[in-house]
Amino acid sequence: AAEPEPLLATDALRKEFGGLTATDDVSLTVSPGERRCLIGPNGAGKSTLLSLITGQLDPNAGSIRFAGEAIDGLSPHERIDRGLSVKFQVPSVYGEFSTRENLRLALQRRVSGEELEDAIVDSLSRFDLADEEYVEANALSHGQKQRLEIAMASALDPALLLLDEPVAGLSVEETQRIADLLIDLNESVGVALLVIEHDMKFVRALAERVTVLHQGSILIEGEMENVADDPAVRNVYLGE
Ligand code: ADP
Ligand code: MG
Repeated sequence: AAEPEPLLATDALRKEFGGLTATDDVSLTVSPGERRCLIGPNGAGKSTLLSLITGQLDPNAGSIRFAGEAIDGLSPHERIDRGLSVKFQVPSVYGEFSTRENLRLALQRRVSGEELEDAIVDSLSRFDLADEEYVEANALSHGQKQRLEIAMASALDPALLLLDEPVAGLSVEETQRIADLLIDLNESVGVALLVIEHDMKFVRALAERVTVLHQGSILIEGEMENVADDPAVRNVYLGE
């Protein structure tokens, strides 16, 4: 049978900052519905690659296809409308608004009326935020805020959800909770996940495949157990 077309395919992406090549000839593909983690030491170029995919940054060379079409030149907003959603490292909830109001703002771009009300209730339940419905986002714990952010990034029913370090600084319990929640989301609605994360326990729990970036390039890709045992990968992490 023919290979199904990837959901996301970057082709030889390159990004330079002055004399530094942050992204070097990266050709990465993600299949529909897959769970992928992007790992690598600090400064490997993970966040830069994410920003190239979302359109926050323009590449110096290379191109990107998403859902069968070239998306080069589309704004971040247009990419979101095509089904490519993102949660960045920096929080972006509205701090003065309640959990419910934040969810409403995100969900009302997709649904309205009674459907909007249902979607808010579903989202509160799916992301374990029902008890925090009327709590101002500023007053949420770090973990609750991360869950709210993921809920908001999922609001438009994306085909691909990009997450930059969703469990950084979280407890073991909260980390596991977010892994479970993402797996449940992936399995129930089929959203593909591309997740940058340092927490290897989280990566093992979540990822079907991992891609290791090093000095802007893909070092190796595969199943976590094979990648973790690879001498080149061990070297890269020892050198950190
Ligand atoms: P990671 O997310 O893997 O830690 P980044 O993508 O943030 O890595 O950074 C990759 C490299 O590019 C680093 O050397 C970083 O200092 C550099 N870099 C990232 N963003 C910028 C920028 N806006 N201007 C200049 N250098 C940058
Ligand atoms: Mg980063």
